[in-house]
Amino acid sequence: MAWLAAKRDVDVNSCHNVGAITHSKVSKRMMFACIFIYLISSSTVSQAIIPASMIPVELNDTTVFTFENLSRFPEITHFVSTRKGGVSEKNFSSLNTGFHVGDDNFRVSQNRRILADSLGIALEKFTFANQCHSANVALVDGAGKGRGAFDKTDAFPNTDGLMTSVSEICLGVQVADCVPILLYDPKNRVIAALHAGWKGTIRKIASEAVSKMLRHYGSRAENIYAGLGPSNGPCCYEVGEDVSREAVKSFGSVKDIVIPVREKGKYIFDQWKANFMLLTDAGVKPDHIEVSKICTQCRSEQFFSNRALGGVSGRFMAGIMLKKVRQH
Ligand SMILES: [Zn+2]
Repeated sequence: MAWLAAKRDVDVNSCHNVGAITHSKVSKRMMFACIFIYLISSSTVSQAIIPASMIPVELNDTTVFTFENLSRFPEITHFVSTRKGGVSEKNFSSLNTGFHVGDDNFRVSQNRRILADSLGIALEKFTFANQCHSANVALVDGAGKGRGAFDKTDAFPNTDGLMTSVSEICLGVQVADCVPILLYDPKNRVIAALHAGWKGTIRKIASEAVSKMLRHYGSRAENIYAGLGPSNGPCCYEVGEDVSREAVKSFGSVKDIVIPVREKGKYIFDQWKANFMLLTDAGVKPDHIEVSKICTQCRSEQFFSNRALGGVSGRFMAGIMLKKVRQH
């Protein structure tokens, strides 16, 4: 975020200024103290890249979270929405962005409008897929802009990933425990939004998206940045034999990804680690990947969690958009 970067600059500069304008013993001590604090804060910043918690951003009517790594690129807008500030009730309370979960459509439309207005993005630019836990990634051109924004019937069918190099299209996925993944290649100006639950993870949608970016846009994997958003974490995400078996089939050795728990036949599925591994195996640099480490089940008051809400839940949205290219 620009404001965050600006705040850091002010903090750092204020330290240097103190050191530069004074010459007494006391000021020297202060200068060393400032340099020490600066070094500590610098190392905290660089360590915070992977993994990190996301940055909360308070908007007019709601709060969204942003990734620190993607926030460094002013030419894109991205966000992960929260439950705050909407008009839906009960398990959809309050900012449910999903038409497909049993909420009142009018309320969902209002919620999307509230979110879009708060972000300063026209709702007509929001573009969605009818997600089905696949590894399919659709390429979105100018004509695809706005599909699914007002009605789920015209969203991209049978697709869990959207990718584009066209400006002013806000690609969105909707989740409540599954992993939302945002990708950006700043060299070739390509973005993607992916929905990766356990099925999408096992079907390797993250790998498919990277390879599609390489094939269709000439991207190089080492230039791609990724953010893995709030989702069911390894603290909570228990699965049964069926999921464990599928994961073994897909990943081969899954020592760190599917971890047996004491109770027989139960496992923890670490979908953060699994998707991190898929991305690095595809050539994305580990230090280009930010894992939010926010567990939706632990923080279900802030983010929708299908499990925490007993299987009936709203959806929050992760979105990414290339801003209009400025003409010089
Ligand atoms: Zn948890």
